[in-house]
Amino acid sequence: MECLLSRRTEWAWQMNSLADICRELTWGQLAAWSNKTAVIEGRKIQQKGAVNTLMKTSKGEGLLAWVEVEEPFAVLIEMEYGELFSQCSCNPIINPCEHAVAVIIEFIVHLKRNNPIPLAAPNDPRLYLV
Ligand SMILES: [Zn+2]
Repeated sequence: MECLLSRRTEWAWQMNSLADICRELTWGQLAAWSNKTAVIEGRKIQQKGAVNTLMKTSKGEGLLAWVEVEEPFAVLIEMEYGELFSQCSCNPIINPCEHAVAVIIEFIVHLKRNNPIPLAAPNDPRLYLV
C-alpha cells in the first residue's frame, strides 16, 4: 500500500503519469515548479478562457495549447525522465512562464470535468513555434 503522506509531500514524478501528477497538484507545488507571479498570472489567464485547443502530443506524455493573450503563444508541456518541462513561444526569461502555468491549470480543469483531450497531429504547427 502506498503511503499517503509521502504522496502529498513529494512530487513522485517517476511513479505517476502527467495526469496523475496534475490531479494532485497544489498551488504551492505549482509555485515551486514555476514561481508565485507566474501562478497568479497563469491563473488569471486560464480564468479568462485564454487557453485554447488543448491537445495531447502524439509522442510521449505531453500537452500542446494556444494561449491567446495580447498575441497567441504556443505552449508545449512535456514530461521527460520523470520531470515536467515547458516551452513557450513567448521565449520566457524565466521558465516556466505564466502561459505554461495557465496550460497546466486548464489541463487540471479538463481532468476534473472528464473533458476529453484530443491528440495533436505529429506535425502540429505549435511544435515548430516553441
Ligand atoms: Zn510564455
